[in-house]
Amino acid sequence: MNKGVKTTVIGSYPVITDNMEFMKGYFSQKDSFSWERYIQSAVNNMVDAGIDIISDGQTRDPFVNIFFRKIKGCRIRDRPEVIDKVEFDGSITVDDQKYVRSIIPDDREIIGLIAGPFTLAQSCIDLYYNDEKELAFDFAHALRQEAKILEKHVSMISVDEPFFSVNMPEYAKELIEIIVEGLSCPTRLHACGDVSKIVPDLIELPVNVLSHEFKATPQLFDAFKEHNFSQSICLGSVRSDSPHVEPVEEIVEHINHGRDVFGDKISQLSPDCGLRLQTRNVAFQKLKNLVKAYEEVYG
Ligand SMILES: [Zn+2]
Repeated sequence: MNKGVKTTVIGSYPVITDNMEFMKGYFSQKDSFSWERYIQSAVNNMVDAGIDIISDGQTRDPFVNIFFRKIKGCRIRDRPEVIDKVEFDGSITVDDQKYVRSIIPDDREIIGLIAGPFTLAQSCIDLYYNDEKELAFDFAHALRQEAKILEKHVSMISVDEPFFSVNMPEYAKELIEIIVEGLSCPTRLHACGDVSKIVPDLIELPVNVLSHEFKATPQLFDAFKEHNFSQSICLGSVRSDSPHVEPVEEIVEHINHGRDVFGDKISQLSPDCGLRLQTRNVAFQKLKNLVKAYEEVYG
């Protein structure tokens, strides 16, 4: 088995929310409320599917809210709001990663997930800065502190910037640099959507791995083909926006196409994006088929 290439996940995993205790815990966010069984349930799915590098599934909150809830200067009303200077106020995701480490087999790795500073700045109502760039940089400095603690507990950190596909700012590289500079673990940048027009900017980012939606956006193959770049590729190989579970042969064909374009530059295979909008069963089947396809191609 080619362990140079590993299977992994992106973003958030479906949470089972059909019970009152979860809903009450979610809305109260009391420290006494135990998230562990919800994290465990997501993690067990990833382990059982055979994924090599797993995450906590961002079970606790939808993606950005995990960060808005814990970063100083932010609060969550109908939408997240920034009401004061944005500053790090203690670890955001680290406790969950420690818990994940305690329940997974030794042969599995963990990827830490950080919502990117530009995406955070674009996802809130700014009632304090009136300066989108300054706000994004303060988020970057806060996330840098999170990354410095997180790196001790994970084997890779992913900075997730879905908003890059909508509007990649000219200071994107500086933002990402603040977070990743000098980290001891490898880093990944995930940007979903059609990023084909910003490939020249993405390949300038100081990360080890670039992660994109190659399954839903096959034109990305042509967009990347035209460039030389140093990063390796995390190949999105099953769709996250459709409940259709891709058969193994279809995923194998997709991976082989990826190998024709990128050769050994593929370091990871993943779903296109977080699977949170799918049912738990669909998400699990997609991961299982992804692993089976990996084994067929690289085994
Ligand atoms: Zn995504």
